Amino acid sequence: MSHWGPYSLHDKSAVVTGGAMGIGLGIVKRLAEAGANVLIADLDYECALRETKDVVAGGGKVACMALDVTAADAGAQIVAAMVENFGGVDILVNNAGIYPQVPMLNMEPGVFDKVIQINLKSLAFISKAVGQKMVDQGRGGKIVNIASIDGLHPSMIGLAAYDASKGGVVMFTKNFALEMGQYGVNVNAIAPGGINTPGTAAPLAGSGMTQEQMDAMMDAFKARIPMGRMGEPDDIGKVAAFLASSGADYMTGEIVVVDGGMLQS
Ligand code: NAP
Repeated sequence: MSHWGPYSLHDKSAVVTGGAMGIGLGIVKRLAEAGANVLIADLDYECALRETKDVVAGGGKVACMALDVTAADAGAQIVAAMVENFGGVDILVNNAGIYPQVPMLNMEPGVFDKVIQINLKSLAFISKAVGQKMVDQGRGGKIVNIASIDGLHPSMIGLAAYDASKGGVVMFTKNFALEMGQYGVNVNAIAPGGINTPGTAAPLAGSGMTQEQMDAMMDAFKARIPMGRMGEPDDIGKVAAFLASSGADYMTGEIVVVDGGMLQS
């Protein structure tokens, strides 16, 4: 028997969207460590392969597929890949997301649509396809959505579209949990605070802000974190591994805030 007790993911199969880098990669590593088979579904297939080489060399069971979560058949593609690689699916982590920082007064409808499509609509329809597979398999499952503290409280100017999408993820999580409880499928979300990732390190293209303004904004953001540091992808990976395990069997529709205490400040 595994020494992991209720937190073991041995014999479980998971898919993580956007798992090639950042928070998704942090989640992939912790799920694999806990014993799960993990499929990374990401736009950046090469990156997924490169970043998980060490995990695989250490005995982790990781497969990769190139996927745009906005494809109309993204959910069906994921289910087919999970069946092909691992025979089924027990855990879905909806992590892929974008956060262009554009003040609403400068916002183009196409940018707004893209944010909603990637962050909310794709998450919902991938949940539909994978959730249906979990129902058909008859052995329950765990769905973990990556929301944001911005879905609960706005953190800075320029994220109106993003905050609307993540607020949508919060309420989608709660309502889908209502629907899936009868099938033994838990649906929860994590609301991360500021996490150091390639995405947050990238320049804020289109924000219209100078470097000085951006630095000042980041300093002000960090000053509001009681734990005194930005989070790391592993801070989210550890909580996702818990929510994916039987340790969380009686939790559903919950939004777990992982932000170093920022929302308390
Ligand atoms: P990141 O560093 O930008 O990584 C995101 C990954 O998702 C990338 O590998 C990206 O691929 C992939 N991706 C983007 N669009 C995709 C699509 N249409 N289909 C498939 N894969 C796609 O992002 P992150 O900071 O780790 O954020 C991950 C999630 O956490 C997002 O949902 C984000 O909103 C949420 N979050 C992040 C923070 C934070 O501070 N970092 C805080 C709260 C919530 P490409 O690089 O090829 O585009």
